[in-house]
Amino acid sequence: MFVKDPCGIICVLVTYAAVLYADYVIVRWVVLQTMFNSLWGPFNAVAFNTIVFFLIMAHLRAVFSDPGVVPLPQNRVDFSDIHSAETGCEHVDWTVCTRCEMYRPPRAHHCRICKRCIRRMDHHCPWINNCVGERNQKYFIQFLVYVGVLCAYAIVLVVISWIKECSECDPTVLLKQSRIMHCIILLLESALFGMFVTAILIDQLQAIFGDETAVEQVQHKGPYRAHKSKFALLSEVCGRQHPLLWLLPCTSVSRKFDAPLIDYHV
Ligand SMILES: [Zn+2]
Ligand SMILES: [Zn+2]
Repeated sequence: MFVKDPCGIICVLVTYAAVLYADYVIVRWVVLQTMFNSLWGPFNAVAFNTIVFFLIMAHLRAVFSDPGVVPLPQNRVDFSDIHSAETGCEHVDWTVCTRCEMYRPPRAHHCRICKRCIRRMDHHCPWINNCVGERNQKYFIQFLVYVGVLCAYAIVLVVISWIKECSECDPTVLLKQSRIMHCIILLLESALFGMFVTAILIDQLQAIFGDETAVEQVQHKGPYRAHKSKFALLSEVCGRQHPLLWLLPCTSVSRKFDAPLIDYHV
């Protein structure tokens, strides 16, 4: 699924442009200019590109995976008399979406951009041009973590290249000026995106540990279920496998979804 939202598509392209630019500056202007004579050069180039690879994998998964769209019923429900419609539904905590004209499971919300109801919708994120919901929140969090790590790594590499004077580096003034210019742009970019993703990541973790999505926080609904441990809540989002595998964007989210979809015959 891919949402046709111009703002989202621009944000996705900006994300890739920013990541590719960071990679270009690190390889061309930091590693090749200041670390080419030691083993640190190839090591940092490989490490940096590995993080870029995981970042793009997590991002593609977040963009193209189903966030948990509630399927439309075969027969549209007639809501002209909402009272009789409500009594027709056996699931008390299910709510009605008047836009999709159907019943939806608890914690599902309607997204105006995706034009569908999303299970445990957190928010619609233009940076992944998709909703953050029950099934893709893991990839969204992985994406945030990798962006944060990449920003920190880029800042460290630029600062080291400045502190450590390189005796064998090309002394040409023009080259040095270009290097400094690219490094400053990269520092600003990394600081900006780094702070941005850290803030969103903290928000996401608070939402998971509080068992309350961003939508529910606005509605002051409070935690939906009885108290659960932080580990249980986190493994619900990231999957039941070992926590060391939580950051791998290649394993799929395997878990049972609590409420089965009901038949909509009223
Ligand atoms: Zn809806
Ligand atoms: Zn959406």
